[in-house]
Amino acid sequence: MKAARIHAFGGPEVLMYEDVPDPAPGPGQVVIKTYAIGVNPYEAYQRGGNYGPMEFPKVLGADASGEISALGEGVTRFSVGDRVYTVGSLSGAYAELILADAATQVYPLPPNILAAKGAALNVPYGTSYYGLFLRAQARPGETVLVHGASGGVGIAAVQWALSRGLTVIGTAGTPEGVTLVEEQGAHLVLNHKEDGYLDRVTEFTGGSGVNIVLEMLANVNLGKDLKVLSKRGRVVVIGSRGPVEIDPRDTMGRDASILGMSLSNASPEEVKAIHAAIYAGLQNDTLRPIIGSEIPLSEAARAHREIMESSAYGKIILVP
Ligand code: NAP
Repeated sequence: MKAARIHAFGGPEVLMYEDVPDPAPGPGQVVIKTYAIGVNPYEAYQRGGNYGPMEFPKVLGADASGEISALGEGVTRFSVGDRVYTVGSLSGAYAELILADAATQVYPLPPNILAAKGAALNVPYGTSYYGLFLRAQARPGETVLVHGASGGVGIAAVQWALSRGLTVIGTAGTPEGVTLVEEQGAHLVLNHKEDGYLDRVTEFTGGSGVNIVLEMLANVNLGKDLKVLSKRGRVVVIGSRGPVEIDPRDTMGRDASILGMSLSNASPEEVKAIHAAIYAGLQNDTLRPIIGSEIPLSEAARAHREIMESSAYGKIILVP
């Protein structure tokens, strides 16, 4: 089979499209023939060496959709041909075939969902669910600012929040991104590249501020987020690419909280709950993954350039 692997840390050019032996399933494992593979910023950080040592060569990637092509001994939960998506894997997702643990890394794809969209589920919808409902404990009737709503995690966050009766303010950095977030049904959409855009948040909330901020770029925004929070407001730091200075006094008068998070901290029970909620949301059409661009797996390096450098518009997926 073909896979995109790295043999050393480095820039996007270290992603090599090459022949790799087909995986064979051991007990409790399955092989999945991929339809589409989700590209996440995390994989670009990993490729650059930001997350510490790894064994080379390494196939990156956690999110894919596909169909079961082989079953290991004892696997009864799936049959060959079942449409599924992955939540991590044993062998890496940037590949034509993926080896995965059947009990923990594979979830069924509802029949109404196009195959490609299954690659946009795990990290985007899992992260936004974990941030919004498990870290911020969002409640119906609250207002959330999705700061960076045009990308994979942001679009998912907007859809989750609307499905639970929150008022949603989203931001994007381009007119196309603004339109995309508006199309999801957000109540107010702002361009985070315009001067003074956060004044509109204060105006929109009648001066009381938002209950929750889901922050995709905390190194740029955390200080400003604290100023648009309501009393007992919570900022969830989902993404950050460096240090930032804040005024701690902005948290004091508000009893505000800054909550860090990593999806990898979700417990097995939380992961199960997240994917049960994803299945239900896909079935009832409140969750609608948006694929912004499809790139051949052989051009994984281009996908890594785009995820880090271009303006976001839903998910980037790789197609084998
Ligand atoms: P993505 O698809 O590349 O989207 C990035 C988002 O950030 C876009 O909406 C982008 O908007 C926005 N953005 C850019 N500049 C901004 C600014 N100055 N202010 C506010 N937003 C800005 O990435 P993603 O997959 O959604 O992930 C978002 C972040 O979360 C990444 O840093 C990722 O590493 C992190 N993440 C963390 C976890 C975790 O467990 N903590 C899990 C998944 C992802 P425009 O491009 O329209 O400007």
